[in-house]
Amino acid sequence: MSTTTAEVINGKDLSHDMKMEMKTEVTELKQTGITPHLTVLLVGDDPASKSYVSGKKKACDETGISSDVTELDPSISEEELLQRIEDLNNDPKVHGILVQLPLPDHIDEQKVIETIDPSKDVDGFHPVNIGRMMIGEDTFLPCTPYGIITMLKSKNINIEGKHAVIVGRSNIVGKPVGQLLLNENATVTYCHSRTKNLQEFTRSADILIAAVGKPHVITGEDVKDGAIVVDVGVNRIEDGSLTGDVDFESAKQKASYITPVPRGVGPMTITMLLKNTIKAAKELAKS
Ligand code: NDP
Repeated sequence: MSTTTAEVINGKDLSHDMKMEMKTEVTELKQTGITPHLTVLLVGDDPASKSYVSGKKKACDETGISSDVTELDPSISEEELLQRIEDLNNDPKVHGILVQLPLPDHIDEQKVIETIDPSKDVDGFHPVNIGRMMIGEDTFLPCTPYGIITMLKSKNINIEGKHAVIVGRSNIVGKPVGQLLLNENATVTYCHSRTKNLQEFTRSADILIAAVGKPHVITGEDVKDGAIVVDVGVNRIEDGSLTGDVDFESAKQKASYITPVPRGVGPMTITMLLKNTIKAAKELAKS
């Protein structure tokens, strides 16, 4: 076991610093007549979705990015939602479009994602943007994986040649974070619910990313000495508090760097959304 405990990568502080830089950039853009604008569509009244959306709106306000939230009835038809997205695609004042997920069961999420103009897809979920990321082209990177890479780079962590093990293979977190690490020349292993002997893999990780959605599924026992541990999980436990997929206290004794929950990856996800919105505004202004 390591004799020292891990350095904590505080996503909240990094996010604050990045927002201050973006605020300056937005002020400068406004002087050239460009006001980055994000439109969020929120379908239904799921409390978690509402809270995520209000966090995104607040972050826009903090950086001077203009934003609006349209709340839509959960009974909205798929056709009407797709039409609203088309209208936003055609609105030159709107640079970024975000449809808060999940959507009600009668709406096909993938269809919704694919209706957003890829040049306004600030969530980075459109297959065109995912494809560009796969081949290493400049694009809108999905916000959570983009935030994770930014956190590692903020500590000058060298990714090249490292063995990165990703636990979780969702389209929004696991798969793309593995791809981004591969683009940075890591050797990448994906684990998931059918992986046999998970611990064998996690213990061989130089960089361990937990994106599972189960509290403390990774403990210090699963972590190699000196590993970099990134906890993406957000789990609400019985006492109402939030906890990650990693048992922070035991993992911290083994890792060299670790991200906490809360104040870890979560704030970075929103920050990268802002970054993507500014990028969209600058690129649409050029075209
Ligand atoms: P999903 O439920 O889409 O994916 C979970 C993944 O974990 C799946 O690939 C699943 O495998 C795998 N898995 C489940 N159980 C196990 C297990 N026992 N051992 C190994 N793998 C397992 O979740 P998301 O990727 O959307 O989210 C993951 C977590 O990250 C959640 O807690 C979510 O709330 C959080 N999150 C946090 C964000 C942030 O900004 N901080 C942003 C997005 C998500 P299989 O594919 O085989 O089913």
